[in-house]
Amino acid sequence: MNLSDTPAQLLDGKALSERILNSLKEKVEAKHNAGMPAPGLATILVGNDPASHIYVRNKRRACEKVGITNIHHELDEHVGQAALLKLIQELNDSPEVHGILVQLPLPKNCDYNENEVLAAIDPAKDADGFHPFNQGALMQGRKAPVPCTPKGIMCLLDECGLDLKGRHAVVVGRSNIVGKPISLLLLERHLTVTICHSRTRDLAAEVNRADIVVAAVGVAELVRGDWIKPGAVVLDVGINRNEEGKLVGDVEFRAAAQRAAWITPVPGGVGPMTIAMLLQNTFEAYNA
Ligand code: NDP
Repeated sequence: MNLSDTPAQLLDGKALSERILNSLKEKVEAKHNAGMPAPGLATILVGNDPASHIYVRNKRRACEKVGITNIHHELDEHVGQAALLKLIQELNDSPEVHGILVQLPLPKNCDYNENEVLAAIDPAKDADGFHPFNQGALMQGRKAPVPCTPKGIMCLLDECGLDLKGRHAVVVGRSNIVGKPISLLLLERHLTVTICHSRTRDLAAEVNRADIVVAAVGVAELVRGDWIKPGAVVLDVGINRNEEGKLVGDVEFRAAAQRAAWITPVPGGVGPMTIAMLLQNTFEAYNA
């Protein structure tokens, strides 16, 4: 598809994330030149989920690019929760580790409890911002590590240079990792926020009222282009394969781009920002 034939301006997450990573690289180099140790991000991957392997590989490559030391652990899916918690405790205690990431989802066929695993991470090293303490801090508007995808979405939204106060945002999806935290961040910036989900009665009508649409559903092109209010900003979090096997978002991109003022592509929109924010969270934990 030729993206240049869309009237909406593209919110280019790939280019923005590269700028952020380059800036982080300079800051890490400055620490190194001042004789300080490198920041360290520990990544833990349990099991053989192919998508998780790709996500972790991309995160590790970004660490290498920026000069953040990556301490990587791959565990067999049958290793069990006790061994995983023991490893997390060791990383919590390690002075070389400033951020810890446990790649989700954990294998379903074993007895892992994701909430217990996330709660075992030292909140000060919680690079993903999923610890209940940090999620509570976000709800109270206190400074704490913010989940990477919502944080990246806010950076993209700021690229539009709009005065956000009082505008109407509609978030489709209410997960703990995207929908709920992005709703809180938008509220913090004084938008009026509507959260939609699978039981929402008239999704099209809700989306049609939005100045800002965040789609975080996981259903290919669920949000139709003709639902978009002319001039809206559309931030598409979804990563899906359509029937032809092509990577698409949760928004019908081509039609939505005919009405939106700004829109993120998939791929190359929100996805790369998630990785940049992970490294930014790690660097912020290192500086704290
Ligand atoms: P979840 O599956 O945890 O949540 C999906 C949400 O969508 C739920 O709240 C669900 O509602 C809602 N939903 C499902 N079907 C409908 C529907 N027909 N109408 C309205 N709402 C619906 O997903 P995540 O938040 O983890 O991820 C969402 C998408 O974003 C996925 O495609 C994922 O791959 C992608 N993603 C991308 C990232 C990136 O870096 N770009 C990072 C994280 C996720 P209910 O609560 O009622 O079930």
